[in-house]
Amino acid sequence: MELKDKLGRKISYLRLSVTDRCNQRCIYCIPEEGIDFTSYRNVLRLEELAGLAARFIELFGIDKIRLTGGEPLGRKNIEFLVEIISCIPNLGEITLTTNGVLLAGKAQALYKAGLSRVNVSLDSIDPDKYRYITGGGNLQDVLRGLRTAREAGFDPIKINTVLLPGFNEACEFVEWANREGYMSRFIEFMPPSTLTRVDIDGRGPVEAEIVKELDNAFGKVREIKAANGTHGKIARRYGFENNDYQFEIIPGTSEPYCGTCNRIRIDCQGTLRSCLYSSDELQLNALSGVTDDEFIEKVTDFIARKTGRTLEHIGSGMSKVGG
Ligand code: SAM
Repeated sequence: MELKDKLGRKISYLRLSVTDRCNQRCIYCIPEEGIDFTSYRNVLRLEELAGLAARFIELFGIDKIRLTGGEPLGRKNIEFLVEIISCIPNLGEITLTTNGVLLAGKAQALYKAGLSRVNVSLDSIDPDKYRYITGGGNLQDVLRGLRTAREAGFDPIKINTVLLPGFNEACEFVEWANREGYMSRFIEFMPPSTLTRVDIDGRGPVEAEIVKELDNAFGKVREIKAANGTHGKIARRYGFENNDYQFEIIPGTSEPYCGTCNRIRIDCQGTLRSCLYSSDELQLNALSGVTDDEFIEKVTDFIARKTGRTLEHIGSGMSKVGG
């Protein structure tokens, strides 16, 4: 059966956060005092996460799953989870978002396990700035991870960058990523409510400003096509009139895509959320013993409440619920 909300949006995309722990401390994502990570006792085992994924694929026709976190590659045997989920019939693709730090050691195994694509978050290609923004990270780890992922066969590899005023610039990423054979993708900064470690005037550059900067740097920019196919059409792809460079933008704040959102989220404790910004939750682990009919009833009732609201702030939602 199809999973639909009250606005008639068909839900087909599940973001599964496999851990809320992260091996980085990005200053705009995790507050200085840290966050209370979920006790290991309450984190679902890989088999339990796979079981939930299977129920959503089989009962509701979910056809895309993205593994996220926290840092998903920090979860031991993540490739085992990829392997089980990728074998479930009727799943279109299983993808993963990572900071790339552990990618060099995992890329081959993930590719073999059936991972369809990998996105790597990277906010600076300058070693010092990278160390600053990630709270101590080593840029070389990520660059090595990217090369290994490409050698393993991943293509395309998208580089997700949050542009922060006075910190990084779109043109450095477009030039570097196109030269290296990656797709540069900019995510508009979403103002957090509780995080104070970064001195930002409330917002970073939005789509129109990013396009203008790139137009000035590389010549006339033109939109190519929506880059996300059937999955929400939230990223726009652009190119240039005078060269082959391309880039993408996800205009999450200047043009929130809530109206066409087709995604739901499950965190590492098995809590279902219909939106990153919503406090409405359904505890799926409490439903592990129920029949498929009962499961369908509970989940469809819950999803029917999914609203078309636009975003206000994300609090620590990204790191806890999964970005
Ligand atoms: N650790 C993985 C990674 O780095 O991709 C997955 C989790 S991380 C929270 C997912 C993405 O959320 C990263 O690309 C990060 O830059 C982004 N993110 C975190 N806080 C954000 C904010 N306030 N606005 C926009 N993006 C944010």
